[in-house]
Amino acid sequence: MPARPSKAVRSAVDHFMKGLIKRNPGEPEFHQAVQEVVESLMPVVLDNERYQQEEILERMTEPDRVIMFRVTWEDDEGRFRANRAWRVQFNNAIGPYKGGLRFHPSVTLSVLKFLGFEQVFKNSLTGLPMGGAKGGSNFNPKGKSDHEVMRFCHSLMIELHRHIGEDTDVPAGDIGVGAREIGYLFGQYKRLENRVTGILTGKGLSFGGSHVRTEATGYGCVYFCRQMLEEHGEDLKGKKVAVSGSGNVALYAAQKLQEFGARVVTLSDSSGFIHGPKGLTKKHWAFVRDLKEKRRGRISEAADKFKEIEYHDGKRPWNVPCDIAMPCATQNEISAKDAKALLKNKVMAVCEGANMPTELDGVHAFLDAGILYAPGKAANAGGVAVSGLEQSQNALRLSWSADEVDEKLQTIMKNIHAQCVEHGKDGDTINYVKGANIGGFVRVAEAMSAYGAV
Ligand code: NDP
Repeated sequence: MPARPSKAVRSAVDHFMKGLIKRNPGEPEFHQAVQEVVESLMPVVLDNERYQQEEILERMTEPDRVIMFRVTWEDDEGRFRANRAWRVQFNNAIGPYKGGLRFHPSVTLSVLKFLGFEQVFKNSLTGLPMGGAKGGSNFNPKGKSDHEVMRFCHSLMIELHRHIGEDTDVPAGDIGVGAREIGYLFGQYKRLENRVTGILTGKGLSFGGSHVRTEATGYGCVYFCRQMLEEHGEDLKGKKVAVSGSGNVALYAAQKLQEFGARVVTLSDSSGFIHGPKGLTKKHWAFVRDLKEKRRGRISEAADKFKEIEYHDGKRPWNVPCDIAMPCATQNEISAKDAKALLKNKVMAVCEGANMPTELDGVHAFLDAGILYAPGKAANAGGVAVSGLEQSQNALRLSWSADEVDEKLQTIMKNIHAQCVEHGKDGDTINYVKGANIGGFVRVAEAMSAYGAV
C-alpha cells in the first residue's frame, strides 16, 4: 500500500495550488497537471531549503514566455478564415525548447500550458538536452482539403518562424499534426529563412527525418510497459490490451503489442471504439492504418469491413475487460468512473501513451489500488526522445539506420524506467507517478539553481 502524504505536505500542496489557480484563472487542464506534479514534489521541496529560498516550484510552474498570434488563411471557396495559435516556451533550463504542435478545435492556452509543463519533465527524463514547450492552434484539420491545410500551415509559419530555431525552439507534431503538416511547415520555414536545418522534428525521411520517429511514441510506450511488467515478474505475452485512439501513437503501440504477443482488443477515435473480442490481427491493423493515415476515415469502417469486429458508437473502450489499458488518444479520456470500471475488471497495468489521459481522481484510484500505473510523461517519452535523436542526426548531417535508432530508443526507455524505480519507491511498491515527477524535476531544478536569479 502506498504511503499517505503527511498533513504538512497536504496543506503545503493546497496553499501552493490556491496561489497557482489565482494566478492562472480558467485554466483547468493546467491546474490538473500541476497538482499531480506538486503532490509528488512537495516532500522533496519541503526537505530542501535551497529549493524553497529560490522558489524553484513557483518558477517551474511559470512559462518562460507565451506567444499568441492570429493565423489568417484562405479556404477553397476563397473566403478568409482566422484561427488563434500559440507557442508556449515553458522552460529551457537544460536545452532548447522542444515540444509538439497540436491542431484541434479543443486547443486553448490552458491545454498548451499543461502540455508544455509536462513536456519539461518528460524531456528531462530522456536524459537528452531538451527544454519543454508546446504550441498549436484551434484550427480543425478534419474535413479540410490538403490545399487548405497547406495554406493554414504556411500562414502559421510566417509568424512562428521568428520565434523558433535549431538552438532556440524545435517544434514537432502532436494531435492533428502528422507527416503532411510537418512537410508544409518545414517547407515554409526553409523558404522564409533560406536555410535547411533541423528546425522541426518528425520530418519525412527524404528531408532530414529520422527512421523510427513515426513509430517512436507507440513503440516506446510498449517498451516501457514491458519493462514495468518485467520488474514485477510479468510479461506481455497473451495479455489482453485495450488501446484507445487510432492515430500515430495508438497505431504503433498496437503494432508493437501484437509483435510482442499481446492481444490488442480495442482501438478508437473521437466517434466511438472497435472491439475484436478475439484480438485484432495484423490484417485489421493494416486496414486501420490505411484508413487513418491515408484515407482519413472513421474507425467504424473497420466494423463494416470485418464481421468479427464490433463498433460501439459514442463510447470509450474502458468497460471492456482487459489486463492492460493503454490510453493513446487525448487528455482526460479515462474518467474516475472509467478508472473504477477498469479496476473492477481487474486491470493489472495502465500505461499512458497520451498526455494526461487520466483524470486526477482516476490517478488516485489506480495508485490506491496498487496496480502498475505509468504516467504519460514517462511512458510516452519515446517520441520526443527520437525527436532528440533526429536533431542530433541533423546537426551531424548523418542518418542512422532504423535498427540503430530503435536500439537507442529501447535504451532510453529502460533508463526512464530505472529513474522511475529509483525515485518512486513508496512503501513496498513503486509509485511511477512520483518516480517520473521527481526524476524529471531534479535535473531541471539543479540547472535553474546554478543559473541564479534568471
Ligand atoms: P493523432 O492526431 O495522430 O491521433 C489522435 C487520436 O486520438 C485519433 O484517433 C483521434 O480521433 C483521437 N482523439 C483526439 N481527440 C479526441 C477526443 N477528444 N476524444 C476521443 N478521441 C480523440 O495524435 P497522436 O497519436 O500523435 O497523439 C495522441 C496522444 O499522444 C495525445 O495526447 C498526444 O499529446 C500524445 N503524444 C503524442 C506524441 C507523438 O509523438 N505524436 C508524443 C507524446 C505524446 P479522431 O481521428 O476522431 O480525431
